[in-house]
Amino acid sequence: MTFTDAPSRLPALASRTDQLADSAVAAVLRLTDGHDVIALAAGSPAPETYCHQEFADATTRLLSQGGLPLRYGDASGLPELRSWIAARESAELGRPVDAGQVLVTHGSQQGLDLLCKALLDPGDVVFVDRPSYVGALQVFRLFQARVVDISLGSDEGLDRLEAALSVEERAKIIYVVPTFANPTGATLDTAHRRRLAALAQRYGCVLVEDDPYRDLGYDTVAPRPAAVASAVAGAVRMGTFSKVLFPAARLGHLVVPPFLTDVLMKFKQAADLGNSLLMQQVVHELVKEPGFLATRLELARHLYRRRRDALVSALAGSFEGALEFEVPHGGFFVWARLPGGADATELLAAAVEEGVSFVPGTDFYATGPDPSTLRLSFSCTRAEDIVEGVARLERAWRTLCKG
Ligand code: PMP
Repeated sequence: MTFTDAPSRLPALASRTDQLADSAVAAVLRLTDGHDVIALAAGSPAPETYCHQEFADATTRLLSQGGLPLRYGDASGLPELRSWIAARESAELGRPVDAGQVLVTHGSQQGLDLLCKALLDPGDVVFVDRPSYVGALQVFRLFQARVVDISLGSDEGLDRLEAALSVEERAKIIYVVPTFANPTGATLDTAHRRRLAALAQRYGCVLVEDDPYRDLGYDTVAPRPAAVASAVAGAVRMGTFSKVLFPAARLGHLVVPPFLTDVLMKFKQAADLGNSLLMQQVVHELVKEPGFLATRLELARHLYRRRRDALVSALAGSFEGALEFEVPHGGFFVWARLPGGADATELLAAAVEEGVSFVPGTDFYATGPDPSTLRLSFSCTRAEDIVEGVARLERAWRTLCKG
């Protein structure tokens, strides 16, 4: 036998790999590869908002002090950064949050993975909003959860959730993006947040509140987190620096109840031994400076507000006024429904030919997708290009209607 021999039989993959699906956004990016498109698909922050120079300066400053930032760190995260996050969360929640409740993760995406590791056995039930963040659905499925989707933003939806919880013995998690949501841009009001927290508590579920867009409100400030109304034992808050500094930091965090702290720290240790100490120190150097984050957020809100306005006014003036959508008051996304029940996946093919991309809504539904929905993102495209992108989209729609 030589090293180049192929094995005669490949080992079977684990059963959870049956649940592996391509990311909807990645599929669109592949489809548009090689085409010159105006991107209304990717939900990335605008590169203009990245604090490139400040990051470079802080990194140089830290490294000039010696090699300590290059060693391994604490698996739970840099203590100073955890304290900074705890102080910020305390202000949001109006109650003290101990730094020991904070776990630093590789983006909030890793937070989801670790939570599922700690909480889910195959067949356990996760309740999600309808539609919901596709990256979370992907993780829940990989842990072989039964994912049940219910519209959480209305009294009727919460009545249905309550009815389901009252008969469901394996309910573990209620997952929600409460503020300027991905993909809908919608925000849960205070009354619905309170009721959601109360339901999670009454039925012994963990309410997972994934709040990456919280600071990116363009007309309104976000209501207090749902976790405000929750007993300390029942809620997990997720946050990230991806949208307010830059995604390459891969710095997110969980704020967790005491029964989860040790378990999650051990899963984090097993997964990667902790985030980069250097990155955490640099980010802490930046955010600890009084006014740094507030100033950056003000600039970012201004940029995104202009882009949001460009998208919603272009959409309102096209499709013969027949495209259904709500104006989002923050975040990165407009969620829309095509007139006449047209299929957004079919529209995408025509749209790429015209030179514009978006994400069809289907993948954001855990069950029973509405094929006429789509997500348009305005975050990383200039206002002028957004206007041209919508004109292209309308041309594609007309082609589809004629065909
Ligand atoms: N949650 C939501 C709702 C998101 O929109 C995203 C990014 N698209 C994430 C989590 C993951 O963000 P990150 O891992 O960069 O913190």
